[in-house]
Amino acid sequence: MIKVVEMDGWTDKDIDSLADVMQDPFPKAMNSPPSQKKENEEGGGNHLSTALTAFKLILGNPLSRALLRPMLKRYEVNGRDLPALYWALSVYAGESLNEPMMIRFQAETLKLLLKLGIKLAHGDEEAVKEALLRDPHIRRGIWVVLEGIAKYGITVPQKLAGPFLVVWNFTNMCNFHCKHCYQRADKPLPSELSLEEKLDLVNQLDRAGVAAVAISGGEPTIHPDFLRIVKELSSRGIHTSVATNGWTFADMENLKKAVDAGIKYVEVSVDSAKPEKHDEFRGIPGAWEHATKALENAVNLGISHGMAVVMDKDTYGEIDDLLDLAESIGVRRVIFFNLVPTGRAEDMLKVDLSPEEREEFMKQVYHQMKKRKLELLTTAPQYARVTLLESQGKNVTPAHFYIGENNAVKTLAEFIGGCGAGRIYSGIEPDGTIVPCVFLPLPVGNIRLKPYKQIWEESNIFNLLRDRDNFTGQCKTCPYRNICGGCRARAYHYTIDLLGDDPGCIINKRLWEDIVRQGKPKGISEISWVDESVVMRGPSLYVPSYYSAVEVTAEKRLSSEYVSQSAEV
Ligand code: SF4
Ligand code: SF4
Repeated sequence: MIKVVEMDGWTDKDIDSLADVMQDPFPKAMNSPPSQKKENEEGGGNHLSTALTAFKLILGNPLSRALLRPMLKRYEVNGRDLPALYWALSVYAGESLNEPMMIRFQAETLKLLLKLGIKLAHGDEEAVKEALLRDPHIRRGIWVVLEGIAKYGITVPQKLAGPFLVVWNFTNMCNFHCKHCYQRADKPLPSELSLEEKLDLVNQLDRAGVAAVAISGGEPTIHPDFLRIVKELSSRGIHTSVATNGWTFADMENLKKAVDAGIKYVEVSVDSAKPEKHDEFRGIPGAWEHATKALENAVNLGISHGMAVVMDKDTYGEIDDLLDLAESIGVRRVIFFNLVPTGRAEDMLKVDLSPEEREEFMKQVYHQMKKRKLELLTTAPQYARVTLLESQGKNVTPAHFYIGENNAVKTLAEFIGGCGAGRIYSGIEPDGTIVPCVFLPLPVGNIRLKPYKQIWEESNIFNLLRDRDNFTGQCKTCPYRNICGGCRARAYHYTIDLLGDDPGCIINKRLWEDIVRQGKPKGISEISWVDESVVMRGPSLYVPSYYSAVEVTAEKRLSSEYVSQSAEV
């Protein structure tokens, strides 16, 4: 083990003086004020806020960013080729590595930068270190944040060098036939990744800095490669979770095997508090019983878990019953998933909530959370606006994240920035196709053709999604765009305008009324995403049939534009 030595000439006193000098110029340039001492005394979640504020404070400075850039150089340590930044964070966290001298030097530079930033943010260095660095996946998250800041500077929301989260649609195979399946899952596709290709994908995700992978489907737990890949992901310090219909994990032994392989979080879908309704929806008798048993097993095993519920007209009338059910099982977290009209839910306009109903649904979720001892969250990005308004500015809960009720959420909410598609998150299809979100199946590349990291950095669609100035409607000028941004998948599926308005929001109520009157889609967008889909037309690559209608429309439009341009010439 290598002992880390103090950097020559830098004492705590020097850092104090430097912090005093640097304190003034930065707060004015920041979006959020530096954390106050009181905030740091409130609990563990705030250490994350302190760290983010620290990064912003210290890395808002071009000199610090220049110091960070050499840390992007990659070094192979213990057979893994990762940037010096990751190794330096590991050394700073106290991990023992056989690292080269250069990494030890960079760990010292990093330590100095973080120490200074934490001081500026009035944080407690040891507590931040403990809260942030003990888990490898948190270090991975910090790596992509720091690398993002080094590359792009401070942006709102923040652009990352790699995603925090990837949802990997592992297979198209499923033992259920759910009415709203976004994947139209049924049988495995002939073009799915082989085990060897999946292992290569794990390495690609490791090299890209991905902090968390949620394995979804189809039904991933019935695939023969499931446990092997879970082991591989978790051995690299990637937080690995699974979304399941619960059938497999109704057997405790199966759940134990998954947990032993490295699963850290299990999410089970439940559509109704009434067994017969759930079974009818899922197309399988006994589905409800298995799903609730799987949750009970997760509770008894002490593995982190959640109950996933679709937000639609049916569950709208059942919020109380569903939460009572969760409490009776001992479930800790319930996640309400926005209905996105894609896959088998494509034509479910009639069961989708109107903007008024969605607003009311979200308000109820917020007030239920105050009443019950449950963590409640939704994937509707407008939830951030609703929580901000309902709490009179005290809380903001961004979509997809549960971050409790403390002051940290304000910093985090802007940082996370609502819809994360292509910005802090991406989906992977069973054939290795990369998409912005599993509910937004626009192919932007395939890992059989290009490394994941390169696709993440170069995709036109991803880069459009990262800058909200590219939006075209109300979501562009909306005061809540940095904590919400609208669900890009709903905007796309309802209007075929990826950058347009999410018709699920009360602010975009007129758009919803137009869609109800005229049907969907409303029109086609100006976005040149066809370029990326054309790349995907290799003979061995699977392009789901539901893309082809959009491709044909877009091609027609392109060719008619071409004809009219030629005519003008
Ligand atoms: S208008 Fe768009 S950005 Fe604003 S709250 Fe509604 S969905 Fe979110
Ligand atoms: S498009 Fe954005 S808000 Fe919608 S489901 Fe995907 S990540 Fe969530």
